[in-house]
Amino acid sequence: MQDPGPASALIGMGANLGDAAATLRSALNGLARLPGCRLLRASGLWSSAPLDADGPEYCNAVAELHSELAPLELLDRLQQLEQLHGRVRPPGVRNAPRTLDLDLLCFGDARIDLARLSLPHPRMHERAFVLAPLAELHPDWQLPDGEPIAAAVQRLRAAGQQVRRLGALTAR
Ligand code: ADP
Ligand code: MG
Repeated sequence: MQDPGPASALIGMGANLGDAAATLRSALNGLARLPGCRLLRASGLWSSAPLDADGPEYCNAVAELHSELAPLELLDRLQQLEQLHGRVRPPGVRNAPRTLDLDLLCFGDARIDLARLSLPHPRMHERAFVLAPLAELHPDWQLPDGEPIAAAVQRLRAAGQQVRRLGALTAR
């Protein structure tokens, strides 16, 4: 894999165990302090019903970083932040509840297909809890088939994905 160089990286943030809103604020603070990265902006704080899973409602957000780290280095840092916030991955359970999930959605226009890292994130365009906050940062975003992001959010909501904006997300 060739290092794509510095890029703007989009991070999908989710939490549904403990004080999820407080965890996302703390995680945003963690992102702002990552070496070799600069926090550019963050969406508001959103709430979503779990998708293909049981458990409490999720808090979600999307953050945008300028990253001098290579994509896999950034993924390492995101996973360290998940661990710091008590992330446990029960073996064999898909979509298990989590204290913190940080997914790398995009890294510039890098395309990567590794077991540890797929970019762009293969499921980001199916998820209203990603697209609704992302639309706040990039209202002109289009899905790979050209669908405008706002239309995609409407379509996913009409198909039953529940998302609502709770308020601003500020680092603490
Ligand atoms: P989820 O898909 O629910 O976010 P996990 O957070 O447990 O599940 O991630 C499972 C694995 O997905 C991780 O071990 C990670 O290496 C891998 N992975 C592949 N692509 C990405 C990506 N774009 N962002 C984050 N993790 C990824
Ligand atoms: Mg994840």
